[in-house]
Amino acid sequence: MYLLRLTSILGDDLVLVDPAQTERYCRDWMGEVMVECLAVLRPRTTEDVARSVRACRKLGLSIVPQGGNTGLVLGGLPDYPAGQVIFSLERLNRIRKIESADFSAIVEAGCILQTVKDAVAEKGLFFPLALGAQGSCQIGGNLSTNAGGLNVLRYGMMREQIFGLEVVLPDGQIWNGMSVLRKDNRGVDLKHFFIGAEGTLGIVTAAAIKLLPKSTKIATALIAVASLWDAVSIYGLCRSLCSDLMTAFEFMPRSALSLAKEAMPTLDSPLPANTRPMY
Ligand SMILES: Cc1cc2nc3c(=O)[nH]c(=O)nc-3n(C[C@H](O)[C@H](O)[C@H](O)COP(=O)(O)OP(=O)(O)OC[C@H]3O[C@@H](n4cnc5c(N)ncnc54)[C@H](O)[C@@H]3O)c2cc1C
Repeated sequence: MYLLRLTSILGDDLVLVDPAQTERYCRDWMGEVMVECLAVLRPRTTEDVARSVRACRKLGLSIVPQGGNTGLVLGGLPDYPAGQVIFSLERLNRIRKIESADFSAIVEAGCILQTVKDAVAEKGLFFPLALGAQGSCQIGGNLSTNAGGLNVLRYGMMREQIFGLEVVLPDGQIWNGMSVLRKDNRGVDLKHFFIGAEGTLGIVTAAAIKLLPKSTKIATALIAVASLWDAVSIYGLCRSLCSDLMTAFEFMPRSALSLAKEAMPTLDSPLPANTRPMY
C-alpha cells in the first residue's frame, strides 16, 4: 500500500521495489550482512531528493541515506527490518563547477571521490582526501562520516576541505549553505551540524570543496623499525624537519606486508631480506 502510494507520487524512475533490484543496496561492504528495506529511492536532482523526503514524511516512512556503502559499520543500511526506505545518492553525481582561479569546486553528493580527484587533477589541482575506498565512496558519505584517510596530518579531515553545503532537511526544505568564501566570519557556521552527522540531520546533496595546487615533487620513504617507539621518534624527527610539508606517516606491521604478498604473490618485498621489521 505504502509502496504503491510512494511510486504513484514519485514515479517508477525514482522508486525501486523489486527485491532483485534492491538487493545490492541491502548488503554491507564486506558481504557479511544482508538486511531488508521497503524500497530504494534513486533521486537525480536536489529537487528529487526534496520531494522524495516530503513524500516519505507524508507516508510516515523513515529513511536512510546511502552513499557508496563502504562505511563498514552498517550506517548506510536500514536497522529496522523491512521498515525503512534507502535513499541512494548514486545518480546525484554531477560535478557542477571547477573554479581553477579560486581553487574550489562544486560537486554533488553522489560523486565518487576518485572521480572528483581525477577531474580536478586534469586542471592541475588537487583534492587531498585519500582513502582505500576512494574508488567507491561518495562525497556525501565522506562528509557524513567526516572521513579522515591517509593525508590528515597535513590537510586535516573532510570537515577541513569544505567551504559550503547544500542539504535537504527532514521536512523536505532545501538549505542552501553553498558559499565558496575562504575568509568567512559571518555568524554561526551551520554546515558543521551536517558534517559527521551520518545523515541524521538531513541529506547532503552537494558541497563546495576546497582545492589546492597539485604538488610538483613528492618523496616517499619506507623505513624498517625495530619497535613502535622507534616509529614514534622517527615521526617526531620527520615532522620537525619537514614541518607542515609532511603529508602522511603510516605504520605498517609485518603482518600487513605478508597479507599483501599473499594477495599478490608477484610482489617483491620492498625491504632487504636481512631486515627484521617488528611484528
Ligand atoms: C578499504 C576501505 C578503506 C577505508 N579507509 C578509511 C579511512 O582511511 N578513513 C576513513 O575515515 N574511513 C575509511 N573507510 C570507511 C569509509 O570508506 C568512509 O567512512 C567513507 O567516507 C564512507 O563513504 P560512503 O559514500 O561509502 O558512505 P556510506 O557507507 O554509504 O554511508 C556512511 C554514512 O553516511 C550517511 N550518508 C551517506 N551519504 C549521505 C548523504 N549524501 N547525506 C547524508 N548522509 C549520508 C549514511 O547514512 C551513513 O550513515 C574505509 C573503507 C574501506 C572499505
